[in-house]
Amino acid sequence: MDKKEVDALRQLIKHSKRAVVFTGAGISTESGIPDFRSPGGVWDKYQPIHFQDFIASAEMRRESWRRKLKLDELIGHAEPNSGHKAVAELVATGKVACVITQNIDGLHQQAGVPDEQVIELHGNTTYAACLDCGKRYELQQVYIIFQQDESLPHCDDCQGIIKTATISFGQAMPETEMQRAHQETLACDLFIAMGSSLVVFPAAGFPQLAVRNGARLVIINREPTDMDEMADLVLHADIGPILQQAVVDV
Ligand code: NAD
Ligand code: ZN
Repeated sequence: MDKKEVDALRQLIKHSKRAVVFTGAGISTESGIPDFRSPGGVWDKYQPIHFQDFIASAEMRRESWRRKLKLDELIGHAEPNSGHKAVAELVATGKVACVITQNIDGLHQQAGVPDEQVIELHGNTTYAACLDCGKRYELQQVYIIFQQDESLPHCDDCQGIIKTATISFGQAMPETEMQRAHQETLACDLFIAMGSSLVVFPAAGFPQLAVRNGARLVIINREPTDMDEMADLVLHADIGPILQQAVVDV
């Protein structure tokens, strides 16, 4: 790892008055959750179930809960890693105003970032919710019913369909979260994108917006991204070790 690059990152953080951290699947690989693009990962085994099909078909809903149970066996016990912890430290010191994440694993909150400072653009897979009234359901409540005879869960209050609280392909982006992410991006002077291939839009529009608005952009990612050219600093490295060093003394 290049010490000069880590120092440059530390300086940028030190001189920032209000920073935003933007994360993708890459920050969670060190917790054992495969990212989207790695071949043979859990994600490319199945064609994704689109939102419209989930709504239209009870069999699709059953298939989606079957997959969710399998996925939980594989990664349900993942714990935050040193990258998540370093981000939580930056939030605790007040340097970082919020974490905008594409991840659905809840590991930023588990690492200690307060709920209200995590903006989840693609929802959260660690609980479920009614699609009609929004009432929250814990996964265990769903599993108890589903595992008996694959009965599908329905909302106690309104009989609506219950789904994990993630944003599926074909589902509208969450309005409040998109608005908050927009505001926070415009309010920051430093935008640090980490562990994202920056190809999934509209999420990947935020680093672009930050640059257009005059903020500094840092990209930390193992592989090059199409946005490297517009960044003030690019680190092609693993997130955990880099961040641990960069957050010392900021
Ligand atoms: P992506 O898989 O497209 O890109 C991840 C990037 O992180 C890759 O370019 C990879 O080189 C890099 N990377 C992997 N491990 C790294 C590490 N330890 N240090 C530095 N870089 C590392 O991820 P994306 O941009 O977030 O897009 C994928 C979509 O899939 C998102 O919309 C997300 O919602 C979803 N997803 C979420 C999770 C999760 O919640 N943990 C996991 C997989 C996919
Ligand atoms: Zn309901």
